Amino acid sequence: MTRTVAVVEDEQPIADLIARTLEEHGFRVECYGAGEPFLTALQHRVPSLCVLDLGLPDIDGISLLKRIREIAAVPVVILSARQHPSDRIVGLELGADDFVIKPFDPREVVARVRSVLRRADAGPRPADQDVPVARFAGWRFDAGALALTAPDGSSVELGAAEARLVQTFLEAPQRVLSREFLLTKAGSEDSFDRSIDVRVSRLRKKLQGAGDGDRKPLIRTVYGAGYLLTCPVTWEAS
Ligand code: CA
Repeated sequence: MTRTVAVVEDEQPIADLIARTLEEHGFRVECYGAGEPFLTALQHRVPSLCVLDLGLPDIDGISLLKRIREIAAVPVVILSARQHPSDRIVGLELGADDFVIKPFDPREVVARVRSVLRRADAGPRPADQDVPVARFAGWRFDAGALALTAPDGSSVELGAAEARLVQTFLEAPQRVLSREFLLTKAGSEDSFDRSIDVRVSRLRKKLQGAGDGDRKPLIRTVYGAGYLLTCPVTWEAS
């Protein structure tokens, strides 16, 4: 089945480059030079995914993203200029699925598009009550018991706030999560735990400590945007 990708970008050479590269990789592409024509088209037909420039002439990117979300649950990959890191954070909080920083290699756009489509195909996660155990990179997390078990079978102690942080990452694997989002979701009861960076780096150490030292960190820092759990996660009944 051929997937249609809508490219919403006012800079023609960039739009052409993305369109050409996506088409070379088997996608069908529709280009829009502004936000309003895309919104109109979206009311009639929803593409498999849209690649969205945040700097459009007729509507600001954040409002556009909100209006897209009101119309359809189409996956969104944001194109963002390096000088506006806050756009990326706001975009991801508004439900964009991934972002690419300009200038970019068009193959990177294809890779992001594919990875977002794979995640979209995997479908929504089941409710936590039904499936309280997550498995990822050999690890096991029991969301009911707040217990984390390493690939070598050893258990890793977690505080309540830390367990919520783990759960937040596991519920959105391979997505960039902003510091603000992590703080909102994972909260903080611990007065010594004000900085999300400190908490993430402590968690990262725990995840690397148990026989995982040679591998790449499971939680990656995405400069200017936040953190990302690099591995896929499967949830199952305990
Ligand atoms: Ca632009």
